[in-house]
Amino acid sequence: MDTLYDVAIVGCGPAGISAAINCKVRNKNIIFFGSEFCTAKMYKSPQIFNYLGYPEITGAELRELFIKHALQAGVKFTKEKVSMVLPMDDEFSIAGSDNTYRAKAVILATGITFTKAIKGEEEFLGKGVGYCATCDAPLYRGKTVAMLAYDKEAEEESSFLSEICKKVYFVPLYNDTGALNDKIEVVKDTPIEIIGENKVTHLVLKNSKIEVDGVFIIKEVASPEQLVPGVEMDGPHIKVNRNMETNIKGLYAAGDCAGKPYQLSKAGGEGQLAALNAIVYIDNKK
Ligand SMILES: Cc1cc2nc3c(=O)[nH]c(=O)nc-3n(C[C@H](O)[C@H](O)[C@H](O)COP(=O)(O)OP(=O)(O)OC[C@H]3O[C@@H](n4cnc5c(N)ncnc54)[C@H](O)[C@@H]3O)c2cc1C
Repeated sequence: MDTLYDVAIVGCGPAGISAAINCKVRNKNIIFFGSEFCTAKMYKSPQIFNYLGYPEITGAELRELFIKHALQAGVKFTKEKVSMVLPMDDEFSIAGSDNTYRAKAVILATGITFTKAIKGEEEFLGKGVGYCATCDAPLYRGKTVAMLAYDKEAEEESSFLSEICKKVYFVPLYNDTGALNDKIEVVKDTPIEIIGENKVTHLVLKNSKIEVDGVFIIKEVASPEQLVPGVEMDGPHIKVNRNMETNIKGLYAAGDCAGKPYQLSKAGGEGQLAALNAIVYIDNKK
């Protein structure tokens, strides 16, 4: 928790990679957070026709080039999922899955998710519903929890929960579930609603109802409001101005999370703009 980084970048798609490279070019001390696999969206693009200079490239090939470029520029990838960014007096506190970090400015480049909240998810947030199992697991020691898993990264979190909780139900909402330890019960069903009174008591699925003390919802991308309390939104996107500034001083956003069109060149360009403006911001503070 000691180093005060100049800039923390959250998200390792083209927007985040571009921000990281531009910060490095300007010799800034950065921490660059990404998921285990950066970025599934690019990897899944079969053919990209509109990326300048590469008329016949696949998403997977371009992704490799971006990562290679970042590594060549000296960018280090910190493979931690960020669960919370808290604006403090004159800096930010960033909760990663393993550690907490400090930075003078933050760039959000998390991409966008199209997963709709299930009924009760927002109502019981903080009252039994959580988005980070490794962060909140101690609250559920000896208790029963369910995990709604929208992607494979949830498997590791469920294994961690199973060491602490009495019982873990794992509801996979993606294909190809890997091998889970035998303390975890896999429930292949569709979640409908989370119910309770002051706090969560049950998870209702299409074909069953499970009694639980908590429900963890693990998505590749959390909504920006969950990530940064108080960030102003414009529909599903973070509200930014032309400098990629948000309503919070020192907080920038770039790429799909900052608005349409969802395109690679826009993401890369906005990552650069966010980085250059974050640098102006921290340099002016000196
Ligand atoms: C099938 C398909 C085809 C496409 N074809 C084209 C095309 O031909 N041309 C074009 O211009 N665009 C195309 N796109 C769109 C393009 O891929 C996106 O616009 C671009 O990837 C957005 O970049 P981004 O950096 O904003 O977000 P993303 O690429 O989504 O990257 C965000 C990354 O941040 C990580 N992340 C999120 N939250 C956190 C967190 N809390 N902590 C740590 N890491 C986090 C995510 O896991 C992800 O790896 C296509 C998209 C798809 C899905």
